[in-house]
Amino acid sequence: MEIEREILETDIAIVGAGPAGLALAYRLAELVAKDDSVEMPEILILEKGGYVGSHSLSGAVMDPKGIAELIPDFKERGVPLEAEVTSDSLYYLSENRSIKVPFTPPSLHNHGNYIVSLNKFTGWMGEQVEAKGIDIYAGLAGSHLIVEGGKVTGLQTVDMGLDKEGNQKTNFEPGSIVQAKVTILCEGVRGSLTRQAFESIPELMADRLPQNYLTGVKEIWEIPEGRVKAGQVIHTFGWPQPHSEYGGGWMYAMSETMVSVGYTVGLNSPNPANDPHGKFQQYKTHTVIKDILQGGTMLHYGAKAIPDGGYYCMPKLYHDGLMLCGDSAGFLNPLRLKGIHLGIKSGILAAEALFEALKKDDFSKESLAGYQEGFENSWAKEEMYQSRNFHASFKGGLIPGLIHSAIQTLTNGKGLFERRVNYADHESMLNIREYRQRFGLEPERPTLKYDNEYLFDKLSDVYKSGTQHEEEQPSHLVISDYDVCHTICAEEFGNPCQYFCPAQVYEMVDDETKPQGKRLQLTPSNCVHCKTCDIADPYQVIRWVTPQGGEGPNYTNM
Ligand code: SF4
Repeated sequence: MEIEREILETDIAIVGAGPAGLALAYRLAELVAKDDSVEMPEILILEKGGYVGSHSLSGAVMDPKGIAELIPDFKERGVPLEAEVTSDSLYYLSENRSIKVPFTPPSLHNHGNYIVSLNKFTGWMGEQVEAKGIDIYAGLAGSHLIVEGGKVTGLQTVDMGLDKEGNQKTNFEPGSIVQAKVTILCEGVRGSLTRQAFESIPELMADRLPQNYLTGVKEIWEIPEGRVKAGQVIHTFGWPQPHSEYGGGWMYAMSETMVSVGYTVGLNSPNPANDPHGKFQQYKTHTVIKDILQGGTMLHYGAKAIPDGGYYCMPKLYHDGLMLCGDSAGFLNPLRLKGIHLGIKSGILAAEALFEALKKDDFSKESLAGYQEGFENSWAKEEMYQSRNFHASFKGGLIPGLIHSAIQTLTNGKGLFERRVNYADHESMLNIREYRQRFGLEPERPTLKYDNEYLFDKLSDVYKSGTQHEEEQPSHLVISDYDVCHTICAEEFGNPCQYFCPAQVYEMVDDETKPQGKRLQLTPSNCVHCKTCDIADPYQVIRWVTPQGGEGPNYTNM
């Protein structure tokens, strides 16, 4: 029997209350308020997290350029800034040594920038938007993008109250159909509706290079006084990543006694046992980090994928009835590893184009093209363009990457190769046999003794992310073909999902009925919504879809 669904009509549907979506709503409300000829449109902001900011996670050192353009008196309005950056340093790490780089490259200069907790910052942005009379519906997630005749006409929200098999429970509430003149996807990295948009509207990614991602894993620690100065920033490269792989770490001092520590790992790793969580824990054993954290208390944990490919991997930003902003559209500078200011700018640019479209009451792609034009003529494009070849230059490993990036600095981002061909990350993973042949080694991941006081196993870390999902619902990790997992993936790759997931959602458990004696077991309730599995699975049989609204991590101070 077909399910009857409520139809909600709105002018503008914004999917995701992160910095980009909130900036868009704020700027649009401001523009409309100044022009009597345009009526305030109806704006519906959907946020899959339980509260605004609950799914927002970043390093995060923020360039204030974006927020200053949106809300010039942001400081007077009490924006939560943890500390102004007071010092920058860069270290190269080997397993037992550290070398302080005598100069910090201009891209990593952070003077004038602020260490923030993105989830607190996003919560504050949400308050500024609500003060403009715009409602934000936290706990409401989109499940399907509606595309009719090649045009985006809205979305469907998630069904609530289904059991694991998809049967309706007594509390079943069907998702609604949101019909919107424009749908704006700002749902973060590797968004599930954004993925649907790329699949149903191929021109969005035509002539673009595939996006490349990192997975960042992070903890917040309370530490004894006297070890860091508030505003101190440390970046590292090298160990524990081998020179053939991409990644690096950080320590940001939010105060004299509170630090953010994290590690990012490229998902184009050739290693089928790539384990971003394990790498991060291993990173904490280096004296550069251990001298800061030891004896402290770990308070919070989180993980997220980061769109790191740069300018050439950005999609076309608009289509009929559709705009893409923020991480969903790859607004992140890989050279600076910063995206908050770019996400905000994307929201501002989208709002300005949307304002013109509202005046004409025309939301066709011809009308929304102003967003792309605005971007191409903005400081955001200039910044993205400068770093356009950065990530690709590390294809050959750390040393060639450093040489290429130095040449890029001298050639306005061009370097020796303009627009190097790249591949989707999962295509870079080698199977076990190829890995042995290339490196003469078994694929390995860090083997550590987790005491859950200093080094935390995945489950103990997940506990500190506040993650919650109702167990009785369909899995939001959809495996299209379990046979692939139990046969070819087990034989060829050793089931990488059990390693790359930073939340122990995937486990191979004994099962003699399976060809390799192991069966894939999922615990979706652990998922911190990082999206790594959707990106890194070598056979692309895993798909991340939205669970019931209001579930997932509950980040605080992240
Ligand atoms: Fe990340 Fe996927 Fe694991 Fe969830 S299941 S935490 S999205 S890798």
